Amino acid sequence: RTSTALAGFESTFADELSRLTVAWQGVEAPDPRLLVLNEPLAVALGLDVESLRSDDGIAILVGSAAPADATPVATAYSGHQFGNYAQLLGDGRALLIGELRDPAGNRVDLQLKGSGPTPFSRGGDGFAVVGPMLREYLVSEAMHALGIPTTRSLSVVATGRDVHRSGPEPGAVLARVASSHLRVGTFELAVRVGELLQPLADYAIARHYPDLLELPVSGGGNRYVKFLEEVVERQAALVARWMLVGFVHGVMNTDNTTISGETIDYGPCAFIDAFDPAAVFSSIDSGGRYAFGNQPGVLKWNLARFAETLLQLVAPTPDEAVAVATAVLSSFDARYKQHLNAGLSAKVGLADTFVEHDLIDDLLALMGEHRADWTGTFRALAEDLRGRPGPLDEILPRERSAPWIARWRAALAEHGRDDASTADAMDRVNPLYIPRNHRVDEALRAATDGDMGPFDELLDVVTHPFDRRVEWVRYTTPAPEEFASSFQTF
Ligand code: AMP
Ligand code: MG
Ligand code: MG
Repeated sequence: RTSTALAGFESTFADELSRLTVAWQGVEAPDPRLLVLNEPLAVALGLDVESLRSDDGIAILVGSAAPADATPVATAYSGHQFGNYAQLLGDGRALLIGELRDPAGNRVDLQLKGSGPTPFSRGGDGFAVVGPMLREYLVSEAMHALGIPTTRSLSVVATGRDVHRSGPEPGAVLARVASSHLRVGTFELAVRVGELLQPLADYAIARHYPDLLELPVSGGGNRYVKFLEEVVERQAALVARWMLVGFVHGVMNTDNTTISGETIDYGPCAFIDAFDPAAVFSSIDSGGRYAFGNQPGVLKWNLARFAETLLQLVAPTPDEAVAVATAVLSSFDARYKQHLNAGLSAKVGLADTFVEHDLIDDLLALMGEHRADWTGTFRALAEDLRGRPGPLDEILPRERSAPWIARWRAALAEHGRDDASTADAMDRVNPLYIPRNHRVDEALRAATDGDMGPFDELLDVVTHPFDRRVEWVRYTTPAPEEFASSFQTF
């Protein structure tokens, strides 16, 4: 059925790359109930909040109805999952409703996740459940509030249908907004299907890197070489941002690496409490492939898979193409280090200066040795500058922190930074609140049992990560050890 509660859809992807899409529809939800609606996002997209909240609007958000002017599709893609190539993945439980333009003219995808089986469902049921969909909503909105490029979440609607997981769980559909759903996996499929690669690359360039359309399609410095370089740059910047806030994506398969440079697919993700490069939370990542500290290396590996798909476009002969692509890829390390170092420098109040590597490395080593809370330590350092040593002393023994603090203060003095304004600048880049795993866990449990109260409060907290409020103090503390030591995501 159709609904006019939402309008203005376009379908450039399905129109221009129809071989990568299948027209499809969602399954009717027996008893839809809106659990959460992102009103600020709706307004930013120029959508009418009242229509979205109406029965007709909710019918679209849950996949029971399609907008009258849209042709929803399931999209096809391949991907390397945990390093192994899977020929055909695709939207096994998602539906691309279409593209909208915000008032500034920016094109975004509206996609439903959990709307029912598609031709790409393979062994899966095509559905999703309340806990994980609220988790994606919460964490993606937290990431956005932290200033990190990400897909956004518009709503979660409970379907009224139970879905079988380890037992029956309440079903739900997430409505997600992304600057596109193009991924490395889309290119991995296109390069194996005749005549699709160049149209896909030109489509992606037009959508995300339109300035490059001025460049020629062949020859040295052609648009595809630049395109590869731009994706490498955006993804290097992105993974640096993840590392700076302690975010572990959990399933960095190539189908979850976007061409836009946005974080996508919040599944078994988590934030670290204690600083630990080996931290793994995902129950399916037994080998630790996607451990916290492995993320930059894995991303580079994913970008190598992306570069391989572009070889025939970047240069006329295979040898030349490999040389060109390798040169671009090898710039990843320097780009990543530059973004990470700039971010770490800002975290210790030394933004825009050359920070001696040792100063930061030694802090990280100290934090690792004492399993210091990643988020809390940087806020405590600012407090220490304000003459309040208590918070830092709770995290690191003073006899170990004092020598480092002395060197840090010397560096601040050398760069003419005064204590008060340095501490304030640090507090503007170091979040006070992140989605702590134990808080997320308790909020999702309550929501699954029908109580949205803890979720609503946690959402308010993590979407205001820098606003200190006395009543939110319990959200700053790390998980108790007995929780942290056994916590797993699924
Ligand atoms: P992910 O790693 O979550 O991005 O998913 C990898 C692939 O599995 C994608 O093709 C998904 O559409 C598919 N998938 C995940 N969960 C389900 C499900 N419950 N039913 C059908 N397909 C699924
Ligand atoms: Mg088609
Ligand atoms: Mg995915």
